[in-house]
Amino acid sequence: MRGLMMDYPLTIDRILEHANRMYPHKRISTRLPDSSMHRYTYADLYKRVKRLCNVLVGLGVQPGDRVATFAWNNYQHLELYYAVPCAGAVCHTLNIRLSLEQLAYVTNHAEDSVVFVDATLLSHFEEVYDLIGGDGKFVVFNAEGAVETRLPNVLYYEDLVSQADDDFEWEVTDENTAAGLCYTSGTTGDPKGVLYSHRSIYLHTMAENQANALGLSERDVVLPVVPQFHSMAWGLPYSAAFAGAELVLPGSERDTASILDLIVRERVTVPVGVPTVWDGLFRELKRKHRNLSQVRCLVACGAAMPRALIARFEQEYGVEVMHAWGMTETSPLGTVSRLSSHHDELSEHEKLDFKATQGQAVPGVEIRIVNDEGDRLHWDGSTMGEVQVCGPWITKGYFKEKPGKERFTKDGWFRTGDVATVTKDGYMQITDRTKDLVRSGGEWISSVALENELMTHPKVQEAAVIAIRDERWGERPLAVVVLVPEAGRVTREEFSIHLVEHFPEFWLPDDFVLVEEIPKTSVGKFDKKLLRQRHVAGELGA
Ligand code: AMP
Repeated sequence: MRGLMMDYPLTIDRILEHANRMYPHKRISTRLPDSSMHRYTYADLYKRVKRLCNVLVGLGVQPGDRVATFAWNNYQHLELYYAVPCAGAVCHTLNIRLSLEQLAYVTNHAEDSVVFVDATLLSHFEEVYDLIGGDGKFVVFNAEGAVETRLPNVLYYEDLVSQADDDFEWEVTDENTAAGLCYTSGTTGDPKGVLYSHRSIYLHTMAENQANALGLSERDVVLPVVPQFHSMAWGLPYSAAFAGAELVLPGSERDTASILDLIVRERVTVPVGVPTVWDGLFRELKRKHRNLSQVRCLVACGAAMPRALIARFEQEYGVEVMHAWGMTETSPLGTVSRLSSHHDELSEHEKLDFKATQGQAVPGVEIRIVNDEGDRLHWDGSTMGEVQVCGPWITKGYFKEKPGKERFTKDGWFRTGDVATVTKDGYMQITDRTKDLVRSGGEWISSVALENELMTHPKVQEAAVIAIRDERWGERPLAVVVLVPEAGRVTREEFSIHLVEHFPEFWLPDDFVLVEEIPKTSVGKFDKKLLRQRHVAGELGA
């Protein structure tokens, strides 16, 4: 029809062009392996991305080829985030924390044509190479001089970039071209590939920057503690650039003392990470008496942030915490927990109830909760159902696989495997993963709700609740608890009394097992599968 809008392709090079035109002077700072800071600007990034595109062409990378990265969060990885898709190829971020077997599986499955390896991870990648073999192409960066390695055909990033031409015509004109590839953490079965397109990344970037979502602006300094090797670092490398926000990339030093140091020194306004990182940061803050007044919003994503921790950050440090929920399959941003104007009149306690939820769907994502029969459930704040989602940055199938009905409904919605309640004003509260729910005597018990409450107990540092088999009830909850160092003597009754105020009696865990540490998955979440295995093997002591 005449007079319609322009057919403007939503491609990643547009994001970079905008950052280069509007915010050429804005900084990108990376902590290097020797702890010094590397600093440059969006204008420098732009120039180097063009050169890197020429490098990729020179390496024989063809449109649609997968180019892998094995790297921490740093500026070279950022350059690859742009150059690989802008040269028409697919940026496959290998999750360095997968097992060697999974990494070998994923590399073979993706058929990566070149792998860019962070020198600080070289020996780790060599072990992967020992399993995959072949005479692939490998480019090493962050190395001081030549490296000794058993990888064949090794080239050096800086040599290639410094010799490359500055001119490059962006390659992609079709917004539906594949741009990024991330594999799920694969706690059950083989990891599955999720393929993002230019369009999905562009739209996700626009949504992430809305005021009702992360609302990044040119005034922000963003620290993605979330790794670039998982779920495209929550899209932050793209959304920060589009907003003109400065980026701080933590490199390989990821201990809480280093992260706190970066937040304070670099005047970070939006740090983004999983709750276990923020839990550690809170303890570090207490020890070091530092001030976080410049933080506008601390984003907790990837797992449920305990209500008590949100409250402590807000009350003791004046730091606003925002929950964000999402999955590799959802690009990942799906919901954020921002308070609405109609919450203004609520008490602090009631406001916290909403902040501790995973929040409302960001514009562009639709959510619904359904029962086992697939019927849509009411949003009444108490009915639990499986969360299903749809939208332009939600996957419609896995890489190289036919969409199965296990993960997709007949009407094309994605079955997340999360179980939640939703309030009538649309605030979703994840109560569990379907596989972590405790089904006791036909009733559902939320392990997440129990964990969150246990973690408000002053003697508890971390708590995970798992389902264990029970002859009479089918399943019963078992709590696995890490005590704070100064806890002293504790009894099971103390924990039961603490919980009974909040939950029906049949929800109370049958036992509380004390452990030194709760095992974590590749991305820092409680590894409940491993806890269940340890329990079955009699290694948990209950
Ligand atoms: P992954 O695809 O590895 O990033 O894992 C996605 C899963 O992490 C989701 O299905 C949720 O179970 C969990 N998750 C992500 N964000 C949150 C959050 N804010 N609160 C609770 N669970 C979360």
